[in-house]
Amino acid sequence: MTELVEKLADLTALRDRDALDIALVSAINDLLKPQSAAIYRVVGDTDNERWLTTAQMDADQVTPTSDSAWSELDLLPRMSEHPLRQQAVASRQVMQTSSGPDITVFPLASNPGAVGILEIGTQAPLSDNDLRLVSGVLRLYLNFQSLLDYGERDALTELLNRKTFDGAFLKATLEQTRTEDNAQGKRRSAACAGSYWLAMIDIDHFKRVNDNYGHLIGDEVLLLLARLMRTCFRFHDQLYRFGGEEFVVLMRCNGEQEATAALERLRTTTEKHLFPQVDHITISIGFSEIKTGDTPSGAFERADKAVYYAKEHGRNQVCSHAALIASGELVEQVAIVGDMELF
Ligand code: GH3
Ligand code: MG
Ligand code: MG
Repeated sequence: MTELVEKLADLTALRDRDALDIALVSAINDLLKPQSAAIYRVVGDTDNERWLTTAQMDADQVTPTSDSAWSELDLLPRMSEHPLRQQAVASRQVMQTSSGPDITVFPLASNPGAVGILEIGTQAPLSDNDLRLVSGVLRLYLNFQSLLDYGERDALTELLNRKTFDGAFLKATLEQTRTEDNAQGKRRSAACAGSYWLAMIDIDHFKRVNDNYGHLIGDEVLLLLARLMRTCFRFHDQLYRFGGEEFVVLMRCNGEQEATAALERLRTTTEKHLFPQVDHITISIGFSEIKTGDTPSGAFERADKAVYYAKEHGRNQVCSHAALIASGELVEQVAIVGDMELF
């Protein structure tokens, strides 16, 4: 009992979702001593759903392992390769194998983009007591996750809010530095290639939407645009609503061309979409690569300048800060402080 309380206290001390999944698997491992315990999340589009491992632990392991959050989708196992897990997600019921190895799968219903399961492999079927214990721990884990969501997601669109951005940005810059260190003298592996990019998305003439159709219709446009964003980016790209009609994407891409292609996909999808009453809206996008040692405000300033340029040059377009600097349309600002030049 004391061990259980201690495990739950450890679990609820965390604010980071990846760490929370690792802690849950670790707690299940300590409490039940199973052969294996793991959390798998469903990622990808509805026609290409895959399993991402967010925490996995076998009996002989000391700590759980996980897939990189930026894994290549097509390298992950397909949804249909694991029918028991698939059934647990679809039915929202606990599923157990009827023959062969004893595997129990608990559904983890959560916010969009975080649907998953907890899978426990044991030598004998889990007892009723064990089932109740795991279900109880999961209830607490899911309640705790909803609390985190409440604080970290925008209520209207369910995208992340700006509060969580700095932490995600820091993780991205740290990982970028690590990738660059690993890449010195070697070619980068396909699974972790690429760098991080920050894009700012601003709806064109949104004030007119509110003025002509009212605030409620304006809110519906924001909600629908957030849905379009989810369909245009990959599962690991992080989507934020930063307030009002401004959205931000933190994404990992192989170079400017790939970043431009993803953002152009959103721009054209939005332009073509038929919004109720309003019919059509357009968006302007500015983006910039995140550099080693960047600060959130530095990266934002560059993306913001590119959005401003798009607004000044006809709107409904995607502008790269680096391309604007290279072509001389924008001038890199150099702040001179004493003898030091700060870029
Ligand atoms: P531009 O093309 O230059 O971006 O023009 P704009 O009208 O979109 O720009 P501006 O920033 O001047 O106006 C943004 C408007 O967004 C102002 C406000 O009416 C509206 N807005 C901000 N937050 C919300 C919200 O939460 N809901 C709704 N419905 N409207 C909002
Ligand atoms: Mg604006
Ligand atoms: Mg606007």
